[in-house]
Amino acid sequence: FLSGKRALVTGSTSGIGLAIARALAAEGAQVVLNGFGDADEIARLCEELSAVHVGADLMTQGGCEALMAGAGPVDILVNNAGMQHVSPVEEFPVDKWNAIIALNLTAAFHTTRLAVPHMKAQGWGRIINTASAHSKTASPFKIAYNASKHGIDGFTKTIALELAQTGVTANCISPGYVWTPLIEGQIPDTMKARGLSREQVINDVLLAKQPTKKFVQVGEVGALAAFLCREEAGNVTGANWSIDGGWTAE
Ligand code: NAD
Repeated sequence: FLSGKRALVTGSTSGIGLAIARALAAEGAQVVLNGFGDADEIARLCEELSAVHVGADLMTQGGCEALMAGAGPVDILVNNAGMQHVSPVEEFPVDKWNAIIALNLTAAFHTTRLAVPHMKAQGWGRIINTASAHSKTASPFKIAYNASKHGIDGFTKTIALELAQTGVTANCISPGYVWTPLIEGQIPDTMKARGLSREQVINDVLLAKQPTKKFVQVGEVGALAAFLCREEAGNVTGANWSIDGGWTAE
């Protein structure tokens, strides 16, 4: 149902973004990949998905503008690139704060403001932002991440209201813990910040949050993103969709 549609997924060389790109490509969308990684691996992904890759760094305004220029007009925009840092607030590195706000929040502003004119003009568009359970609730030691994700929730609601009568929807997807390199990367810092072993972090910190006691799978997030692109989802806008094994129900 997405043939003829062009979909840009930021941060799609890995993890959740790649799964969303795969799900949209499977429905026929022409996908634009973005993100870092090994050149051969990215070339392989482009071939697998009949996609193109624009490797802009979204930490800067110039990088975001280069991405949008390279991608051309898009019908579906998935703001997914994101990063995490785990540290107590009084030790939280200022450069990490700035980087996380820039990538997780400000990049979505730049890509969205540049994508909206085409979507409005054609009377159809889908904006999907990968937020997090941390857009609805908090955990300690993730001050910048939690602020950025709560921010993207408000950002998304605002876009949804502004575009409500244009055929363009804007929604958040809020996963709980999904097993990706981002999660693996925060285990050592969480061990340090909380004085725990690797197993304790996985079972007592991460999965402790999810009543299902299972990590969310990237393909499940991809399927939800594809649903939001369907015609039947035309009245779904301004929503923040949890996919978190019941975490935020508690
Ligand atoms: P990941 O580390 O596997 O992938 C991140 C992607 O972003 C990669 O493609 C990477 O190359 C790209 N990226 C990183 N810095 C970039 C930059 N400066 N410019 C452009 N691209 C950049 O992470 P993931 O777990 O798949 O996370 C994707 C999104 O999902 C993030 O927004 C994250 O906050 C969110 N999320 C993840 C989880 C989880 O449990 N993994 C849970 C909730 C929300």
